[in-house]
Amino acid sequence: MTSATFSSDWKSREALVLAPWAMHGVDSAGRVHEEMPHPFRSPYQRDRDRIVHSAAFRRLAHKTQVFTGYPGDYHRSRLTHTLEVTSIARTLGRALALNEDLVETLALAHDIGHPPLGHAGEDTLAQRLHGAGGFNHNSQALRIMELLETRYPQFPGLNLSREVLESQATRQRSGQCLPPLLETQVVDAADSIAYDTHDADDAIELGLVALEELLEIPLVSEAAARTRDRYGTLVGVELRRAVLHELVEFQVAELVVKSLATLAALSIDSTAKVRAAFLGSSGSGSLRIVAHSPTVAAGKKQLETFLFQRVYRSDQVLAVRQITQEKLGRLFDWYCLHPVEMPAGYQHRAAQFGVPRSVADYLAGMSDRYLDWDYQRRLCGS
Ligand code: MG
Repeated sequence: MTSATFSSDWKSREALVLAPWAMHGVDSAGRVHEEMPHPFRSPYQRDRDRIVHSAAFRRLAHKTQVFTGYPGDYHRSRLTHTLEVTSIARTLGRALALNEDLVETLALAHDIGHPPLGHAGEDTLAQRLHGAGGFNHNSQALRIMELLETRYPQFPGLNLSREVLESQATRQRSGQCLPPLLETQVVDAADSIAYDTHDADDAIELGLVALEELLEIPLVSEAAARTRDRYGTLVGVELRRAVLHELVEFQVAELVVKSLATLAALSIDSTAKVRAAFLGSSGSGSLRIVAHSPTVAAGKKQLETFLFQRVYRSDQVLAVRQITQEKLGRLFDWYCLHPVEMPAGYQHRAAQFGVPRSVADYLAGMSDRYLDWDYQRRLCGS
């Protein structure tokens, strides 16, 4: 490529590679606090960089995905789950000619609102804030984006593009939201593929379930049959890895083929038509263009039901959950009685939002290991 054909202009590049159904940066609704355009980064590249450089993102490294307190270093953290979602979402985004910068931003940000201890932590904070606005990791991600990250002198929060905030708001699945862009739909699908597959992988590694039990689920046994066609008979860890890889590959490929067919069938050629298709003719539907066929969706449901019953609600996981929830709950109560022990920003916000909400903001920001350390320091005298 010569310098005559090379362009560092993101607008030209997007015009060249993005489909008409993608969210183009030039069509962005901008930011709440107006900023000068960057000389060579697109709006969504800036958003992605702001997420990666946030404290909330860094802390994902030491937050639990599912398996709190389990020994070993095989199973996923919230950060490695996030990177796996991003990897799958980028593949889908590129195959569908979507805005990869926006896809990547949404994927990297999708779990930043998770408190320590995974859903166990979320449930504890929701219970403590019952009747006072509750607690939900998706809403918390918005609070982080709009308020809690203080990295710039001109405004609180990260001042992300409106499309990023809009996408995060759709994840709450409540209230009035704009119908999701395809970039949002891709990230939701990638999240589902990642956690279904990788939670199964981690559960086998930790001895909570056996691969043979998973192979009784049709979606999984069909994946195993395809690995046999390709590699011959595999056993043990080799079989497990091949099957789980095939499960991801199959779901991604199915989504790409089916999404492209739906885009063609509905003559989608703009984000406006993506949104209109979601609403449907009645205005109240929820048609996702990036969606599995009913057969695959039913297969995934079987896998999720299995994981729920045999893993997330297993005696082993529930026993650890109870211990960790007690720690978080006791620490919540302690900070409500001693708000002056929180960092200054949380004390200031307590005046505006109330002590319990600000304590929840503080605790939700902690990593699992910081929570352990703080619990020991505050409540165990060590
Ligand atoms: Mg996730």
